Amino acid sequence: MNTSACRTAVILCSLACAGAHGASLENRALRLDIALDTGRVTVTEKSSKRVWEQPVPAGNVGGASAPRPLYRLLAQKKSELELERTFDKRVTLRLRFTLPGASDLRIEATADDPKTLIGEISFLEPFVLNAPRGVLAVADYSDGHLYPLDTQPFPRGTFSGDRLDMPWVGLCDLDTGCGYLLLLETSDDASVTMQKFTGKNGRQLVAPMVRWRGQKGAFGYTRSVLYHFAPKGGYVALCKRYRAYAKEHGLIVPLADKLKKNPNLARLFGAPDVWGNASLAFAQEAKAAGVEKMLIHGKPKKPEEMRAINDLGYLTSEYDNYTDILQTKDGKIDHQHAILPDHAVMLKDGERMKAWLTWDKKTQFMKRCPMLWEEAAKATAEKVLSEWPFIGRFVDVTTAEGLYECYDPKHPMTRTQKRECGPALHRAFRDRKLVVGGEHGIWWCVPWVDYIEGMQSGGNASWPAGHLIHPKSKDEEFEGAWGKLKTKWEQYAKWGIGHEYRAPLWELVFHDCIVSTWYWGDASDWLLDAAPEITPKKDAFNILYGTIPLLWANKGGSWLKDRAVFLRTYRNTCKLHEAVATAELLSHEFVTPDHAVQRTRFSDGTECVVNFGEKPQRVKVGRQEFLLPQNGWAVKGPKIEQSRALDGDKQVTKIRAGKYQFPETR
Ligand SMILES: [Zn+2]
Repeated sequence: MNTSACRTAVILCSLACAGAHGASLENRALRLDIALDTGRVTVTEKSSKRVWEQPVPAGNVGGASAPRPLYRLLAQKKSELELERTFDKRVTLRLRFTLPGASDLRIEATADDPKTLIGEISFLEPFVLNAPRGVLAVADYSDGHLYPLDTQPFPRGTFSGDRLDMPWVGLCDLDTGCGYLLLLETSDDASVTMQKFTGKNGRQLVAPMVRWRGQKGAFGYTRSVLYHFAPKGGYVALCKRYRAYAKEHGLIVPLADKLKKNPNLARLFGAPDVWGNASLAFAQEAKAAGVEKMLIHGKPKKPEEMRAINDLGYLTSEYDNYTDILQTKDGKIDHQHAILPDHAVMLKDGERMKAWLTWDKKTQFMKRCPMLWEEAAKATAEKVLSEWPFIGRFVDVTTAEGLYECYDPKHPMTRTQKRECGPALHRAFRDRKLVVGGEHGIWWCVPWVDYIEGMQSGGNASWPAGHLIHPKSKDEEFEGAWGKLKTKWEQYAKWGIGHEYRAPLWELVFHDCIVSTWYWGDASDWLLDAAPEITPKKDAFNILYGTIPLLWANKGGSWLKDRAVFLRTYRNTCKLHEAVATAELLSHEFVTPDHAVQRTRFSDGTECVVNFGEKPQRVKVGRQEFLLPQNGWAVKGPKIEQSRALDGDKQVTKIRAGKYQFPETR
């Protein structure tokens, strides 16, 4: 250790530093203490007096065989600590601890030699939460889950940092509302592992540990995490802290602002997202059936017909994909063809990266290097828009897949560069005033994309949803491109569509910036055969979250199979979406201990209450009381009032939005 630095440190932290074995940092909200010898780090959140502790490092990250002291103090200034520590016994990093905001702790890590090869290393030990109702809050390929920390086995072992829909995880106590946000400020080459440990009374728990992956194998740039410690407010407070961070970083671009640049975006507000039939006849029939707005994907027979669909007020869009490519036959490059193998991603071992494999295993697509996306997209936009009057464009895969590297010397790419290729692709269409859609949502796409499919879905669908095969029953077996697959209905019921463990984390951050819906293979009407009772549950989720449904107009979908279902879903969810599309989602709460009744509030004053439970529940919305059946709801806002409630033994649906009125008694 540098002795002069240590002496300086002792003088400057005389109040906080008990001796040469500890270092500390303090502001009005937090106090950080680091035991240099054992490596134990504690953070005291002053307003609640809660002390967040890390377990003493054990096993291969410290313990008896670890060097002492674990941390070496390099410098202590009034507002920062600089320390050094060796991780995984092989990589020494210089660490900078600062308290940049009221309740924030930032830890930055730099390698003396950025070329240091790391593969993947564990970073600091996690802060633990041993509360009876402690949960992990995470948008893991979903709008959000709350996983109880003592779930055995814990449903997710590792979250890849590049594929967290928002680059953070949170721990919070559902009883007291205290918790912390762990934000990966450098999330591209990182992961979060749920580390197991034993809490008091032998309770088995998990807590999130950050791991850094190499950038092309090396530590490279300065890595950073930001902790935010909240005394109350639970996962909603953590979402709002991230929203403030996202705003600072230019990610909060409200739909109201996007609308000023593209008035056609108004067509999306209150539109069901529809696939499977893009004909003029379908559009006219839907209009006659009362569907005022609609997002229709695909091409009718002629451009004039598309113009007529646009004139109905609908938003015409089309599937597109720049990731999955086949060999060009004539040397021309378009959205699905390129020169192979040259344009495919080169892996570290020199092999080319494979992409989508069709159900019959006969067509293997290759992965186009994202460095070549923009050029192909611009050429496609030029050609398609010169022929067709599209108003929107749906770009598949780009926002749904993880980050990867390319080792082809002609188009090399880091994961960070790959992330930056996404907006470059979206701009090819956005600059031409198209409403842009994407598969699934990820934080970096929000300024560039207007609607995202899949966000409403709960992460892992349990049938071959990507191959668009409707399950006929809850336990049907499939055999296809990925081998045998048995539907894991219980998993889907619990984590996919279960109301107990879902929370609208994504909507609490981005609702007023981007419109969310379900996955194709988890559409509002996808399970008409296997589980028709799920459709009203999905409608109830759309109502609670203020989002749009996804419906099919081909032979497996509700338009042809059960039109009343199509129209019911449209009515019950879309009038509300039109009313709240540009509003921020301010809060979400579990009203009953079993999480059956849930309430959301939007910034325009709209309040939504939903009952997912089997037992009817009495709720109050505004001044009115309602008895809600399962998947019933009551909504009151300045632009809309709607309810699906019990009146005696009858179920009554009422919707009133401006001049629109719908009464129905069953
Ligand atoms: Zn490349």
